[in-house]
Amino acid sequence: MKFIADLHVHSRFSRATSKNLDLEHLYVSAQLKGITVVATGDITHPEWFKEVSEKLEPAEPGLYRLKKNIEKNCDEQVPLSCRSKVRFVLNSEISSIYKKTGKTRKNHNLVFLPNLTVAASFNRKLAKIGNIVSDGRPILGLDARNLLEILLETSDQAFLVPAHIWTPWFSLLGSKSGFDSLEDCFDDLSNQIFAVETGLSSNPVMNWRVSFLDGLTLISNSDAHSPDKLGREANIFNTNLSYSAIKKALQYRDARTFLGTYEFYPEEGKYYLDGHRNCSVRFSPEMTLIFGGNCPVCKKPLTIGVLNRIEEICDRKEGEKPQNTSPFYSIIPLKEIISEILKVGSNSKKVLQHYQHCLHVLGSELAILDLITLSDIESAGIPMLKEAVKKMREGNIHIVPGYDGEFGKIKIFTENEKKQF
Ligand SMILES: [Zn+2]
Ligand SMILES: [Zn+2]
Repeated sequence: MKFIADLHVHSRFSRATSKNLDLEHLYVSAQLKGITVVATGDITHPEWFKEVSEKLEPAEPGLYRLKKNIEKNCDEQVPLSCRSKVRFVLNSEISSIYKKTGKTRKNHNLVFLPNLTVAASFNRKLAKIGNIVSDGRPILGLDARNLLEILLETSDQAFLVPAHIWTPWFSLLGSKSGFDSLEDCFDDLSNQIFAVETGLSSNPVMNWRVSFLDGLTLISNSDAHSPDKLGREANIFNTNLSYSAIKKALQYRDARTFLGTYEFYPEEGKYYLDGHRNCSVRFSPEMTLIFGGNCPVCKKPLTIGVLNRIEEICDRKEGEKPQNTSPFYSIIPLKEIISEILKVGSNSKKVLQHYQHCLHVLGSELAILDLITLSDIESAGIPMLKEAVKKMREGNIHIVPGYDGEFGKIKIFTENEKKQF
């Protein structure tokens, strides 16, 4: 069965997340977006663990579902056109901060757990090492290699995926506190890593330039801090609905079971170019080189973005493609598209009304962005929506790139095109 999975989200117990990030909202939002499997996130957090244990029940092997009476209440918020089953997979993001080979390392890793019993035993081990109570994404002074070892000792079905591997801070390969290779981080356990999350500021094409990533499955997730952000990136599977089938599809990267990813335009990500947000300095890697890596305004080192970092590490030229890559589809969140058409903010009431109308008439957001024919999209009756989706699918858009924590800005239409349509 073909289905979409978003494997990195948070709960309201993680710092800087929205208050309504609970299982009910994840369930509703997953359907609106067209996602079948959504991660619980934060399963290491005792209160979230308790909530998950109380509200979910086992479904297919290794997957969980909301209890039927809760589902029933939530379904009323989902248009009939979007209703479909939602399953949860247990996972958590762990932030490791530690010293290794003379440098402070900070990196984020996703751990996946096959059931609540294993999760409970993993949590007991982590609780002895550090504080897993104060944050849904716990910060531990635990070497990522040792985290992986503890995880695999807890269960051979568990697995670890390095999160948003290029983010300058907090990632495996990030410019500020990362490593230069997988082996530098995971040592003897490197062969236990079979997938990495590319993050919002990089797409597969950029990752293809780094040959040591060739054997790994490149996955993409939303890292949502609010239910609405679910599915801004996601993975497309074609396999049985079960924990082990998902793991296998990632592990063996068979083109029949892992069908690729939905991707943010990387330029729209917060760390695409280099710069200083507070100094309004946005640099391409070439400009950064000219200024010796320092900010011309405050003279301090610039935050080196993902594009620059990949160019630093890569061993392939731009445009070169390794064998056996998975396809990917670049998308723009539907609310952003509608926001541009209507010329009002993407969180405005007007955008929300049009968004809900689209979903009612056409189906889930990812279906609208990727699957539904342009003539059907026209039937939703929103002027320019068909043209916007067409341009997005062709990659025919303009982006002011993001840098140093500031999201990039997308423009689908030029002023001339706006007049024309
Ligand atoms: Zn993270
Ligand atoms: Zn500066």
